[in-house]
Amino acid sequence: MEIRPLEELRAADDLSLAFTPCGLGGRMTPEDATEFQQRQIADCDLAEGVAAGTRDSFERLRTVFAYGVLCYDVYTMVGDQALLIYEQALRDRFMEWCSGTITFRLPQAPDVSYTVTSYDDVKKRADKMTRQRAKLVVDTHAIEFNGMLHGLRLWARTAGLLRGRRSRAVEDALAKLRNHVAHPSGHHVDTPVGAARTVRDLAELINQLWGQATPDGRLYPAPLHREITVLSWNGSGRARMEPAGALTASDPMEDDESDAYQYVVVRAIPFIPGSRWNDAHWAEFDTRYDTTRFPTDYLWGPGTREEARAWLERERPEGDSVDFTDRVFLVQDHGRLWPPMRPAVAAGLPEAERAGVWHAVRADFPDDAFAHVRGSRDRSTGHARHPGDCPACSAEVLGSGTHDEALRAAATALGPIQAVHLPSVRLPSSIFWPDRP
Ligand SMILES: [Zn+2]
Repeated sequence: MEIRPLEELRAADDLSLAFTPCGLGGRMTPEDATEFQQRQIADCDLAEGVAAGTRDSFERLRTVFAYGVLCYDVYTMVGDQALLIYEQALRDRFMEWCSGTITFRLPQAPDVSYTVTSYDDVKKRADKMTRQRAKLVVDTHAIEFNGMLHGLRLWARTAGLLRGRRSRAVEDALAKLRNHVAHPSGHHVDTPVGAARTVRDLAELINQLWGQATPDGRLYPAPLHREITVLSWNGSGRARMEPAGALTASDPMEDDESDAYQYVVVRAIPFIPGSRWNDAHWAEFDTRYDTTRFPTDYLWGPGTREEARAWLERERPEGDSVDFTDRVFLVQDHGRLWPPMRPAVAAGLPEAERAGVWHAVRADFPDDAFAHVRGSRDRSTGHARHPGDCPACSAEVLGSGTHDEALRAAATALGPIQAVHLPSVRLPSSIFWPDRP
């Protein structure tokens, strides 16, 4: 190979300078590019308690990432290495989880436990046990486990260390990429953007494995804060959303329009300009269906602005935080497909409204649950029709059948379901969920 002088190694790579905050096509100075690229992954720190081996590998990755400005190929290597650290993190977490003992369940035999001191031990033992058709005991479950990435992923989900339905689809994609890196079948080049995203995803995954959700995360977001919020609408279909504080702070005589509006008080994700968590479907609020994207809880109404104000001052309800991932929805197919419903609301329906086929689906968003059920009506789409993870989308099928059967499937996942009876309230105009009975 050609020996290059130090000065040349220190010079910025033209390709790396072409990635700017506004995308491709510009050109940054080497100084700006150095700072800009490092900022892309600067804030993804690992939680305390993450195993030393995983932490060392991750920190090394962040260090090397900075050198991408000098050598564009570094981004591809960083992306590839991140995928290998994905497996390392699972192994390290597995060793902590098992605390030196793994237990297998054989067909028609008592469970057998083995002492393990390294992941190599685990792998050897798992390989042997798999050939005897034994399963790894994980809490109250027994799973197929051969010690490879697939088994580790199944273990992490069964042990409840990873959560979320959309994040599971990303884990699938990472596993495919990881296998590609371990057994490359062709040439691929990563960009700084792709490499930075992989590093960020990896940080979220590692932190979640060690029990810490990521504030504002893409994969394993921390619970979102909900505030007391007032929704109102008038006869001509205008809808408004305001924080409860706006009612209690304002003078009743000031709002001359307010007479024409009806008001409900809910607990909802507040609207914050520029926030990625704004609920684009807030104006679809309906006590019967889960038509907002994030959980919105009915508290009071409908009534006048004055009545809402009086109720708020008397009751002084407070905000809370809510994990929106892994929710369970029921979807009724009766004549047509109706929007997803919360199991508690479905449990409170009168007999006459329980007709048709019902589907219990776990998803992060109601639209995900709905899209899955609609897709599953056509066999050729590949959506799962039986309980389990859907291979075609991010939903998990819990069960389907009569109203009772679907509710039982939901209760198996959630525990006993307490029926709620809410007054029928919905905002009048709808763009996303126009079909409601
Ligand atoms: Zn599906």
